[in-house]
Amino acid sequence: MPAADVIPAAAPRLLARLRELMARGAASLPDLVGLVAGELVAEVASIYVRRPGDLLELAATCGLNPDSVGRTRLRVGEGIVGLCAASGQVMNLPDAQNHPAFAYRPETGEEPYAAMLAVPVRRAGRTLGVLAVQNRATRYYGAEEVEELETVAMLLAEVLAAGGAEPGGTQGVVAAVSRVFAGVPLLGGILLGPVVLPGAVQYAGPLLAEDPQAELVRLEAAAERMRRNLDALIAGRIAEDAVGADASREVLEAYRLVVADGGWLRRVAEAIRGGLAAEAAVQRVAGDVHDRMRRVADPYLRERLADLEDMAGRLLGELAGAAARPPVPPGAILLARRLGPAELLDWHARGIAGVAIEEASPAGHAAILARSLELPALGGVRGATAAAGPGDEAVLDADHGTLILRPDAEVRELCLREVETRRAAQAGWSLLRDRPAMTADGVRVQLMLNLGLALELEQIERTGADGVGLFRTEIAMLARGAVVDVAEQAALYARVLDAAAGRPVVFRTLDLGGDKLMPGAEPQEEENPAMGWRSLRVGLDRPAILRRQLRALLLAAAGRDLSVMFPMVATVAEFRAARDLLLAEARRVRPAPGRLSIGAMLEVPALLWQLDTLLEEADFLSIGSNDLMQFLFAADRGSPAMAGRYDLLSPPVFDLLEQVARRAAAARGGRGVPVSLCGEAAGRPAEAMALVGIGIMSLSMPASGLFPVKAMLRDLDLAGFRAVLATLRRGAGGAASLREPILAWAREHGLPV
Ligand code: PEP
Ligand code: MG
Repeated sequence: MPAADVIPAAAPRLLARLRELMARGAASLPDLVGLVAGELVAEVASIYVRRPGDLLELAATCGLNPDSVGRTRLRVGEGIVGLCAASGQVMNLPDAQNHPAFAYRPETGEEPYAAMLAVPVRRAGRTLGVLAVQNRATRYYGAEEVEELETVAMLLAEVLAAGGAEPGGTQGVVAAVSRVFAGVPLLGGILLGPVVLPGAVQYAGPLLAEDPQAELVRLEAAAERMRRNLDALIAGRIAEDAVGADASREVLEAYRLVVADGGWLRRVAEAIRGGLAAEAAVQRVAGDVHDRMRRVADPYLRERLADLEDMAGRLLGELAGAAARPPVPPGAILLARRLGPAELLDWHARGIAGVAIEEASPAGHAAILARSLELPALGGVRGATAAAGPGDEAVLDADHGTLILRPDAEVRELCLREVETRRAAQAGWSLLRDRPAMTADGVRVQLMLNLGLALELEQIERTGADGVGLFRTEIAMLARGAVVDVAEQAALYARVLDAAAGRPVVFRTLDLGGDKLMPGAEPQEEENPAMGWRSLRVGLDRPAILRRQLRALLLAAAGRDLSVMFPMVATVAEFRAARDLLLAEARRVRPAPGRLSIGAMLEVPALLWQLDTLLEEADFLSIGSNDLMQFLFAADRGSPAMAGRYDLLSPPVFDLLEQVARRAAAARGGRGVPVSLCGEAAGRPAEAMALVGIGIMSLSMPASGLFPVKAMLRDLDLAGFRAVLATLRRGAGGAASLREPILAWAREHGLPV
């Protein structure tokens, strides 16, 4: 694995000279280029500094025409230097001038130089500039030279951040540059707040150390504390509220990796022996891991490298002597590359107001959780974490799918005004609470909630929902960080039934696996975990856990009605096996539940060809459109690249849903079997309109969708829309989506979609 490679330590002489320079006060840029040219035996050494407008300006050079300093500028992405800044990668080119990206700047007089080595100057995840050397001879630079240049770049980053970028020093010039990132909305909302970056512990102390031995002792002590804390975590000895994000799968896997592979720590120790302070050495190695990660395509390796990077943050925290859990400032926006459901819960508990995730899609579980927690959330904001620094301000516009880092005054003002308008509008929504969910032409639609946590139960009363159409039982366990015992489960389920106060509640049995891994669970080596050993499959193969859960549900009902459904049913035989487990438990538990309804989730397309048999045996069906869509179109629900690629508002999905609704209504000799839809789509007004149009009259959704969907329904002429929908479907002629004409009709009729 690449993380175990050994980096050569920077030459002690270079470090000694750097130390000398620093001892005289902050090193100037001309000093640094002089030193680099001398130590690396380079004919040219230059520093390019990032300026507002994403420009890189030649700020110091030894070897190029001195008149070009302050004049030669390249855009980020332009030329070798620009490419180095844009990609954050080292460019080691034997013949730079024949590289396709080479941008010729005659004023520099660089024609004679063939070879070029450029390294990014990064700090707190942001590129501040580029440090480059050039030579006449055509050659690759060696690993040691790359290492030396990177070490100087690290020091240079501190100098630039301290304001030495321009003669006289201009602090924060780079930080002021605003950046806009496009993303995929996970839950709408807009807010302005400071960014928090998980694991971004920034070290501001001295970079070089006089006494490597003392630094090694500090490193070992910190690593030992980190190991002990992680051990305690795994043994579940840390109090529940302190576990939070730490209990996530990533951390446990990282733990295993670090324990099993001392290579990473060895590299840190080696950098210390080369003369770096312990913190600087950790950052140096972590920076290298970060750069490698950007180049790794394999998702498994990327995860592992990301784990190592997070571990670096943890180790820095230990070196700082703190638990690395600084308080979250009010209104903070969490900016993360990836986020497991348990981590998101933890950050929510710590008080974040919104979240932007680089690798998350609307149907993934972090997104679902963001919706249950009513956190404005954006996914797919690639590159944002690298561009942000801790404490930067950002606008999270999750309605229009943008994240604006370091907004200018005008954007801030607009955002604040919009936040105020929203606040006023939301006060209006709540008037809908006690109005029936009925279309303008008098058809009642059942609107239910998707819940998973005790803290969400107040949403039933607040929204006036008809009940809980999906209680995701695994969410509470993920939050708790362990499989909880029967009594504790029963207590939670009883609270749900109490909060529903007689309104129907559908409990879904544990749906673990895929991206919802229990902390401590052995990750399965599967290429496609979403289609692997997950959900009901685990329940049937390890019936003890499932039976305990079923018992807890029956105990919670304590004589009341109980509805239980099974996720990811692929065959009628699986449904029967699960149902028989429930019936066997029900025979034992006293008091027996009132009416026991047993349902199946329709998430696996194969069930469509077993529907008539299933409808004879299941008491109800719930369409899990998140999974059904991913399996129907073979499109990973967790992949941002797949987000929005296939549309629920499309002819094949309409045909499928209509058939399910029709066959369910006709089942059992015309008495019918209730069908609802509980995927995220139910909570979006346009989708909800299409669903009732096609005949799905019970929708279960995140609480945030209930008022907007109800508002739409109350204005909807359902009969009129059904006629239009039928016409659109007839004339579809192979269209991939009918969204546009449906939306056009809705807007024409003044519907809030
Ligand atoms: C679904 O798949 O649509 C569903 C409701 O279940 P989950 O999102 O929890 O997989
Ligand atoms: Mg599902």
